[in-house]
Amino acid sequence: MAIHEILLPFRKYHIPETEKIKEDIRDFVLKINEQILQGKYRLEEHKCLCGSEDFDLVASIDRYGFIDPISVCRNCGLVSINPGYSEIFYKDLHSAEEYYKVFHNSQNAREYALANFTPIAGQNIFNAVKPYIELNENTQILEIQSGAGWHLLPFKQAGAQVSGIETDEELAQWGNKTGINIINSDIEKFDPKNKYNLLILANVLNKVNHPVNYILKAIKLLSDNGLTYIEVPLFHPDKPRFCLNSQYYFTPDSFKYFFAEANLIPLEVKVRHDKIIGIFKKGIYQNSPFLMQRNKKNTYKAITKLKRKNYLLFSKKIKSRDDVLVFRIFEQNI
Ligand SMILES: [Zn+2]
Repeated sequence: MAIHEILLPFRKYHIPETEKIKEDIRDFVLKINEQILQGKYRLEEHKCLCGSEDFDLVASIDRYGFIDPISVCRNCGLVSINPGYSEIFYKDLHSAEEYYKVFHNSQNAREYALANFTPIAGQNIFNAVKPYIELNENTQILEIQSGAGWHLLPFKQAGAQVSGIETDEELAQWGNKTGINIINSDIEKFDPKNKYNLLILANVLNKVNHPVNYILKAIKLLSDNGLTYIEVPLFHPDKPRFCLNSQYYFTPDSFKYFFAEANLIPLEVKVRHDKIIGIFKKGIYQNSPFLMQRNKKNTYKAITKLKRKNYLLFSKKIKSRDDVLVFRIFEQNI
């Protein structure tokens, strides 16, 4: 799909007066959008995780105003960015000076790390996992894309051996300074001597190009009886909050369905606020096409309802004249 097709809906819709996007964020949004429109980053169509190449475009921008083609798969109803951005785009986005300001409401990696180190960080993960696992000095836990390791604190306090891997060098350094073993590595290069009893992937699988391939790599690090905790943002049927930083939006049905493809058996899957959390063990899971069909039906129902309210087109309501500036750039370049 060409860029002008993604942005075409803007020609048809009136942009209502709405709430203000902060000025520093707006400038960053304009800069990134301009780079996309000038062809610095190519958007490429990809197959859905189900293998289908049939999509319906449901939104063209995310809640900040970034160009963000959100599509729904006509076969299974999975919502993702499609056409999507390359890994190089995300690498550049994550290393941009403004990244922490826009996506984490912090000035930089240091401030973000410090804000997250609270006594309650990781407590929800700990509570969810605890009924399924014995925690003692022999329990090896690894969090993948752990940030500075704040989720690992309650596990460390319970006596387990905790480690994290993190691609952001600064976050890894901050973790180590606070006494948590964080290795600055990605999953491809990470080659530990031991296997782990618990893997934690919180807000990770929604950000990668192919979550099933990624988790297949990750569970090679897991012991035979080990558990995997997965947390991803929920596709909320009434109020989806699309964000350029997240490539996939799951429902409990699509969550169970696609992680079964990675040989994970769900022990528990539940919705907590705007997230889906799941605890899985390794094994062959009898997948059901019924989950996919139900997912498709429910997602299309939600999208039709939201489109009627114009909500999905903008992913957030646009109010001020400043916001209109974000969109003027689209018109100039089409
Ligand atoms: Zn699909």
